[in-house]
Amino acid sequence: VKYVYDFSEGDKSMKDLLGGKGANLAEMTKLGLPVPPGFTITTEACRAYLKESTVPESLATEVTTALRGVEDQMGRHLGDPTDPLLVSVRSGAKFSMPGMMETVLNIGLNDESVLGLAAVSGNERFAWDSYRRLIQMFGKTVLDIDGDLFSDALDNLKAERGVNGDTELTAEDLKGLVVTFKGIVKEQTGNDFPQDPRTQMDMGIEAVFRSWNTERARIYRRRERIPHDLGTAVNICTMVFGNMGENSGTGVCFTRDPSSGHSGVYGDYLENAQGEDVVAGIRNTLPLSALKEINKPVYDELRGIMRKLETHYRDMCDIEFTVERGKLWMLQTRVGKRTAAAAFRIATQLLGEKLITRDEALGRVTGDQLTQLMFPQFDAKAEKELIARGMAASPGAAVGKIAFNNAQAVEAAEKGIKTVLVRRETNPDDLPGMVAAEGVLTARGGKTSHAAVVARGMGKTCVCGAEALVIDAAAGTVTIGDLVLTADDTIAIDGQTGEIFRGEVAVTDSPVTTYLADGLEAGIAAAGEDQGTRELVEAVDKLLAHADKVRRLSVRANADTPLDSKRAIDFGAEGIGLCRTEHMFLGERRPLVERAILSAPESDERQAAFNELEKLQKQDFLAMLEVMDGKAMTVRLIDPPLHEFMPALIELETKVAVGKATGTLDPADEAMLVEVRRMHEENPMLGLRGVRLGIYLPGLFALQMRALCEAAAELVARGLNPRPEIMVPLVGSVRELQLVREEGEGIIASVAAAHGVDLSGVSIGAMIELPRAAMTAEDLAEEADFFSFGTNDLTQTVWGFSRDDVEGVFFPQYIEAGIFGVSPFESIDVHGVGTLVSEGVRRARSTKPNIKLGVCGEHGGDPASIHFFHNVGVDYVSCSPFRVPVARLEAGRAAV
Ligand code: ADP
Ligand code: MG
Ligand code: MG
Repeated sequence: VKYVYDFSEGDKSMKDLLGGKGANLAEMTKLGLPVPPGFTITTEACRAYLKESTVPESLATEVTTALRGVEDQMGRHLGDPTDPLLVSVRSGAKFSMPGMMETVLNIGLNDESVLGLAAVSGNERFAWDSYRRLIQMFGKTVLDIDGDLFSDALDNLKAERGVNGDTELTAEDLKGLVVTFKGIVKEQTGNDFPQDPRTQMDMGIEAVFRSWNTERARIYRRRERIPHDLGTAVNICTMVFGNMGENSGTGVCFTRDPSSGHSGVYGDYLENAQGEDVVAGIRNTLPLSALKEINKPVYDELRGIMRKLETHYRDMCDIEFTVERGKLWMLQTRVGKRTAAAAFRIATQLLGEKLITRDEALGRVTGDQLTQLMFPQFDAKAEKELIARGMAASPGAAVGKIAFNNAQAVEAAEKGIKTVLVRRETNPDDLPGMVAAEGVLTARGGKTSHAAVVARGMGKTCVCGAEALVIDAAAGTVTIGDLVLTADDTIAIDGQTGEIFRGEVAVTDSPVTTYLADGLEAGIAAAGEDQGTRELVEAVDKLLAHADKVRRLSVRANADTPLDSKRAIDFGAEGIGLCRTEHMFLGERRPLVERAILSAPESDERQAAFNELEKLQKQDFLAMLEVMDGKAMTVRLIDPPLHEFMPALIELETKVAVGKATGTLDPADEAMLVEVRRMHEENPMLGLRGVRLGIYLPGLFALQMRALCEAAAELVARGLNPRPEIMVPLVGSVRELQLVREEGEGIIASVAAAHGVDLSGVSIGAMIELPRAAMTAEDLAEEADFFSFGTNDLTQTVWGFSRDDVEGVFFPQYIEAGIFGVSPFESIDVHGVGTLVSEGVRRARSTKPNIKLGVCGEHGGDPASIHFFHNVGVDYVSCSPFRVPVARLEAGRAAV
């Protein structure tokens, strides 16, 4: 195997092997840009190292060959005492990854070559400054010495000399500092700082390999769902020096503004500085435009390169560069990170400049970014008093009185008072409070803490890990410095920025949401004077329109009220993929259901209850079908766990016991208790529900189907175009479906005949939510006009866990432990649940090539899941109304 690639050998397509930094350095070299010579050690070498715990044997010789190549090109040798070649050792994985080993600069300096460097550069101060930086960086990152030991020593020296800036230290000062630093190395490791240049380099390479598995790196990868087995590449790059005096410097820049997306000159420059001085904020940087005054030719060259890179990568790039005595060097570039709003604007700007196609523009934005733009926001014009910051864990804007526990949050919610639940950290016991509160704020824990994971799952605003907060729940106080807040205080938290404000802050709909709901004109009006927001609204409109044009998947919504249905249509839904009917049986109608279930089969009492329910249901369906005129509406026959309709067992037992003891027993209660005991289920989710209930209680499904057909017939007679579809839940056997279907077909025919209308368009299908249904889909397809994969229940039944009992309880630990990167209820478990879906699709189509296949359930609105559904060939996804725009966008992205 070849473990080492010279910069002139690779290109940007080789990120897997060369890492992001290495691949892009090679690409820039290929483009003829001024990149200091160097080479990249592959991720494969890293993987070999991690497997064997030792550097692969052939690596040393390959490195020697590559190094000789660089030395020949430069006419200098690594660490040569008279005129040393120096290099940097830079980590660079496929994905940019904080938590990995940082770069070590100036490798090759030692007690002798520092003198050579001083002589050839004619700058003694520079040489000693470079040497002390090497020992400092090498000590910290390769030898694992506490970095404060070095920076404290540096600060002490500056204090002694009475100077502020590093640059004010003299060569003599720095020479002394090198002695101090070497002392620290000896004291901390027991060994001298390595003098041999090649040893320095080899130790650096190995340290980069090792850093792949540090705790910090592992945590980061888990959070970002980056596989643990990729490994990192190592880049060895000839040093160029920005710290050689006034006509030298170092900087970073973007080819366009990473927050607004506008093109222009964005960046920072620092004179007479090296490496990370710019980002470290050691001295105040200059805006990039200042370079024009300092060195016009270099500035012009850089502008030209920025343009060239943007044209070449056809995207906004960020760039790291250094100027050594008036000569420009490119040290890094990559496609730059950007905010959600900038992503939309940049994509449409590049499209407008004809640098990319419409399809490509669509590929440059994501559903997650669109989601971010849809959350309510704090009014930008509102006055705010920032009191602390935490981590932005779940987006949104929440305002409310402080609640310290469940009881406070729940009580307040009952009175219609909004709260923010403030906890040191949360655990499963806090769930009721989290549900009741507008948002959650914690003092401890990161983005995978319980609070963060659960809040994201619930779509609730969350800021976590605000370490400045001292929370005394018993005393009912939050202390931040001198400020003490109590349950009487109102706070506001911004889940996008992690900011925490004191007092009321006005929340507004985002202009993007206004646009999505009410159209372009309304969105632009909402943007008002703000040019950037206006551009954003137009960008979303343009890209969404293209997504609609190219997508193969239809998008429907899960809705069961006329209001939600209306909202879904406004957001672009093409139909309803799941209209649940359970709520039509709850509330004040529950006693009717209770009566139907508990009364004797075929009794008048049962029939009376059914008749009453049918009348009510018909009104529900009329209202829904009217809103959905001309659009498909899938009605799922009732699927409740039985206990939701029955009196609670314990309550009833108590009532009867008390009645007996006090001689006030109502015989009806006692009879009811017998029934409730008989029907009691240990495991309701796996009990009498779905089609099982429909078969167990003859007449129940029939009343629903008749109500639906009657409603449809009435609307047809009124000249409307209702398009109901009947969906049978929790089917496991084809016989179950057959029974319901026979009954349904009879009802459709008789209602049509009675009204003299055509109802032949009413179709009957099944929900696929049991493994058995997926694995026998070829049989079920015989009896179905359509299938809809109910991936929520399918996930429960494939994994064998009940969502309510697992998500808030042990999922945070499961995610932390890497058992899954994200809850399988949020994003489809492709490997397990996904296999049942694709197998179900295959089997269904083997019987009925044209059977219509959909997905309902939360996954229908999840970007990664939507791509999966596109790929396995389903016809539509159905999601909550608010997710419809995201699903449209992602379905478009999946198709390009
Ligand atoms: P990161 O991944 O943190 O960006 P880099 O490997 O890019 O780390 O190194 C950080 C900084 O160190 C660079 O931006 C550059 O300023 C400096 N640097 C790295 N290699 C060299 C080099 N060969 N010559 C001069 N400066 C370098
Ligand atoms: Mg860094
Ligand atoms: Mg860098």
